[in-house]
Amino acid sequence: MSFTIKKALIPTENGYTTTDLRIEGDRITAIAADLDPVGEVIDGQNKLLLPGFVNAHTHSSEMWQRGMIPLYPLELWIEELHEFSPLEPEQIYLSALLTAAETLLSGGTCVVDHLVWIPGKELESVAATVRAYQEIGIRAFVGPLIQDETQSKGIPDGGEDRELEEYHYSTQQVLDLMQRVIEDFHQPEAGIEMMVAPTGIQLCSEDLFKGCVELSDRYHVCRHAHLLETKAQQLLAQEKYGFSAVEYLKQIGFLGDRTSLAHCVWLDDRDIEILAATHSTVVHNPLSNLRLGSGIAPILKYRQAGVNVSFGCDGAASNDGQDLLEVLKVGSFLHNITDSDYRQWIAPREAVKMASEGGYQGIGLESEVGSLTEGKQADVVLYDLTKLSLLPRTDPLNLLIMGCPNNVVDSAWVKGEIVVANGTPTRIDLEDLRRKLFEQSEWTTNRKSAHVAQVEQHYRSVMNLPK
Ligand SMILES: [Zn+2]
Repeated sequence: MSFTIKKALIPTENGYTTTDLRIEGDRITAIAADLDPVGEVIDGQNKLLLPGFVNAHTHSSEMWQRGMIPLYPLELWIEELHEFSPLEPEQIYLSALLTAAETLLSGGTCVVDHLVWIPGKELESVAATVRAYQEIGIRAFVGPLIQDETQSKGIPDGGEDRELEEYHYSTQQVLDLMQRVIEDFHQPEAGIEMMVAPTGIQLCSEDLFKGCVELSDRYHVCRHAHLLETKAQQLLAQEKYGFSAVEYLKQIGFLGDRTSLAHCVWLDDRDIEILAATHSTVVHNPLSNLRLGSGIAPILKYRQAGVNVSFGCDGAASNDGQDLLEVLKVGSFLHNITDSDYRQWIAPREAVKMASEGGYQGIGLESEVGSLTEGKQADVVLYDLTKLSLLPRTDPLNLLIMGCPNNVVDSAWVKGEIVVANGTPTRIDLEDLRRKLFEQSEWTTNRKSAHVAQVEQHYRSVMNLPK
């Protein structure tokens, strides 16, 4: 299938130009004024054409609990999350579909799903997720959220001798499952890739990390993990290793140019040097960090040190949505408070570059996707500049990032296939999805979590909070 987008606005170094762009097969084959129309002609007038963004860290199945979990810090929030996680692959399928739809309709063309799978139905969970992403046509990286330690281990002991139960799988069982997932579902040529994605140092043994490194090398898959999201995790790293978690990940060989790390809130200058030297990517999840009170990641320091930074929505239960444009706005503005040198602030054009080029760099695809360049794969998005939220006419890209854009994605292509047209996903029935989500849920208030009640006292004591 071929497309010729006519007379679209494209950002240049200092302004904009009006140009045509041709897509043939999965590639951008020409960018120039007045191209001969080939294939379907798309009217690009009064539309802004940008490379697609990567939603570089999310957990699709959290969608079922968005708007639900009280204002807790991560360590309590996650207890409630897991207590009520969905148990049917059909639910996993629907939440992946909604995650993909919201990502596409806010400028994303790729999703990195740190997938919370159903215990005992692990392969079915991955199958349901992959099916959803293939149906809607988004590019997807799926990394099952694996761990080999029980949830409460994620809270520091604080000198207390706690008796914690064993995790329900051995390390080898978890690694065997991961190997199976890669062998069954990793299809890079189809735009569906698996990743090894241990939850983080808080819930994973050294053997699990090393096993993931080995799988990643053997099958050439990317690595992904949470890293020092909260102050509690920084304390835990000291308890566990006696030194920095970043140094630890470097020592065991987990870092590298195909490794992306979500959050990175509690890192020091030496840690930042390590991330830069290993060419690792930081995924900034500003809304989740605000919602959970995790802290503000030192993103401007990362950028000054030459660390690649991209953006993620994080799971919908800690955000509580999946709007990438909102994430770019908050994730840029947030640092204007922490860093007074306004020359270092993240300008809208920089935010767009981080979300596109930076996003694809974090998953090892920067030479293939992520910019409007002839020869690259066509993962591109057209924004309708006649929508009310993008009027009156000012600087379109600035307004897209700094304003409050609403339903502004007109069309989107992934690997040269049109997956959004006239503001709607082309390959799924959005109305059918809407109806199923409505029918399979109910209004809920004041849900009580038994798990939170079990760990809250210990958490408050370790974190020096009043009883
Ligand atoms: Zn996360």
